[in-house]
Amino acid sequence: MDIETILSHAGSQWDRLTGAISTPIYQATAYKHPYLGYEGDFSYSRTLSPTRQALEQTLARIEGVDYAYTFSSGMAAVDTIFRLLKPKDKIIISEDLYGGTFRLLNQTYKSYDFDVLYIDTSDNDAVDKAFKGGATAVFVEMPTNPLLKVADIRYISALAKKAGALLIVDNTFLTPLNIRVFDYGADIAVYSATKYLSGHNDVLAGAVAVKDSVLAERIQFTQNAVGAVLAPFDAWLLLRSLKTLSVRLSKQSENAIKIAQFLAEHPAVEQVNYPGLADSPFYERLKSQSAGFGAMLSFWLKSSERVADILRSVKVWTFAESLGGVESLITYPLTQTHSSIDANILERLGINDRLLRLSVGVENVDDLITDLKNVL
Ligand SMILES: *Cc1c(COP(=O)(O)O)cnc(C)c1O
Repeated sequence: MDIETILSHAGSQWDRLTGAISTPIYQATAYKHPYLGYEGDFSYSRTLSPTRQALEQTLARIEGVDYAYTFSSGMAAVDTIFRLLKPKDKIIISEDLYGGTFRLLNQTYKSYDFDVLYIDTSDNDAVDKAFKGGATAVFVEMPTNPLLKVADIRYISALAKKAGALLIVDNTFLTPLNIRVFDYGADIAVYSATKYLSGHNDVLAGAVAVKDSVLAERIQFTQNAVGAVLAPFDAWLLLRSLKTLSVRLSKQSENAIKIAQFLAEHPAVEQVNYPGLADSPFYERLKSQSAGFGAMLSFWLKSSERVADILRSVKVWTFAESLGGVESLITYPLTQTHSSIDANILERLGINDRLLRLSVGVENVDDLITDLKNVL
């Protein structure tokens, strides 16, 4: 079945007891054991709950792999992956990266003394150089946040295979609807399911999908041992959201291209970062890897003077710090999402006081454009 069909049937008729079209919320922590020596499928809800199982099976199916695990947040999912590594391991990672992932490596895992190389993963020469002397893992955001740079995943995958390094892709922005990371040789896909997968700015969740059974077992072990699991109600909300992922993302992406085109022509705007613009340096590359361009974009204003006014005056857009939902959000990465990254790195990357990031929702696109026109 096509991924769109699997999504629309997420959790449907999964409940063997009743045939319910929507998977029930099994709000129970403990499950009766049939007899000594046989526990049945469920025992304690940290280990697994039926609602979470329906969700995890759906996520594995849309990825085309056998295993998926869900967590109480995207960061809990990323943390579970870092726990696969050993002290002093070498990690190659995208330099303009979700701020929370940077913070986790730089502070939470400081005592692991990882050898972390932050590079521009969209630059194949930089990737070549980084792999010299091998690596344990390479962690790629596709596209990067907030500059929307696109890595050549085939190229990175080939080098990762040669080095025996784990290829981990944070596919939060494009989702499996657009890019099937396991087709390109990824070992692990990780998601902030808070974003597009949930899509309504109302659930905090994370997910990990994995192909290999040995890796899967280690991830499941951590999920149960640490316990940063997704609660039954949140699992149900996420199942419900997955049913409309395809229509949401198509509308969001349609809106995004029009907004990117509008901004590219606007005299107050210096440059738009959106890989779906035909003159973007990443247009051809992303087109060859992904079914769509997504609905995230960022842009530099010519001057920072009006930033505060813009963020205060928007009416259809909301000044807030998330992405992927049906409501359009405008974010100021410098002081919001990326505030935990060192100032000199931010400056070098161009994450400065003139950069704004947009997460495009499903509103009427003329309303969104008129609002931007008014504030700009
Ligand atoms: C939001 C986000 C995360 C963190 O996820 P939470 O659900 O907020 O914990 C990780 N990676 C990317 C790309 C994100 O956008």
